[in-house]
Amino acid sequence: MKELWLKQLSNNINNNIDLIKITKIKQKDNPQFLYKKKNIFFNVKIPIIFLKKIEKKNPKDPILLQFIFNKKELIQYKKYNKNPLNEKFIIPGMIHKYKNRVLILLTGICAVHCRYCFRKNTKKINSITICNWKIIIKYIKKNFEINEIIFSGGDPLVLNDKKINFFINDINKIPHIKILRIHTRIICILPQRISKNLLKIFSKCKFHIVIVTHINHSNEISEELFEKINFLKKRRITILNQSVLLKNINDNYKILVNLSNNLFNIGILPYYLHLLDKIEGSKHFYVSENKAKKIMKKILLFLPGFLVPRLTKDIYGGKNKKFII
Ligand code: SF4
Repeated sequence: MKELWLKQLSNNINNNIDLIKITKIKQKDNPQFLYKKKNIFFNVKIPIIFLKKIEKKNPKDPILLQFIFNKKELIQYKKYNKNPLNEKFIIPGMIHKYKNRVLILLTGICAVHCRYCFRKNTKKINSITICNWKIIIKYIKKNFEINEIIFSGGDPLVLNDKKINFFINDINKIPHIKILRIHTRIICILPQRISKNLLKIFSKCKFHIVIVTHINHSNEISEELFEKINFLKKRRITILNQSVLLKNINDNYKILVNLSNNLFNIGILPYYLHLLDKIEGSKHFYVSENKAKKIMKKILLFLPGFLVPRLTKDIYGGKNKKFII
């Protein structure tokens, strides 16, 4: 029988018209949203169950704005391009930028399509194949400096348990791997993804697991997520969160202070606050570095140090992140 989260994952909205209809947005309230059925690159995608988090008739809802297609995406700007980080793959599907860790794109698929995603043009073509996986494992086995593997994507946890188990089993056989980090958005979108079976798979890992969630606003947090985070914590899994600073969504110190407090309340520590990567079609989400610094200064007045995410930005072709604050 199909697991609940898989059913929820496949039951989704995939175009603007339906999203506008269900959320009862009126054209006069936001003429920027696309009201015609039109094939767009990187289609709208959001599971129906997650729509309950969006306030009806509110065109400014902070969740809606992350997933709805806005006509501003069609405007071209000079500094915004298709591959803003110019990621280099040493083996198809794998990046080895830092000495001690490699990042593997397990899949190009996600539970949602975030309109500002910096990998929206590249995640599908750059994700691994089974053949590349074997090459990647060989490479890691030979390279003793690598002690951490990062599963990224797309969203690695959209893969079913059988596949996750397969990948984890191979890593379990490499003694110098001490940490597996999983970057995922699905667990706040569909907390049911943290199934009993997935927890069992995690339990047999010889290495430490770190899960990095991607939550931008407190409205994305639910009771169900809280329950599932508890299960993960009982297995001594570390859970961190990264957010992207997004105009009209979370570019306000009160929203970010609230987010840090709410994350902490459910057992997640704020980790990074990223400046937007300049992917084409995303300028309407951009918050300048200066404004970001001002927001951070305010945040510092209201939060203990351990709840302040580090403000950071990635640089085109850069060797590492730049920490701003
Ligand atoms: S979940 Fe992550 S990888 Fe997928 S569209 Fe959103 S930002 Fe991009």
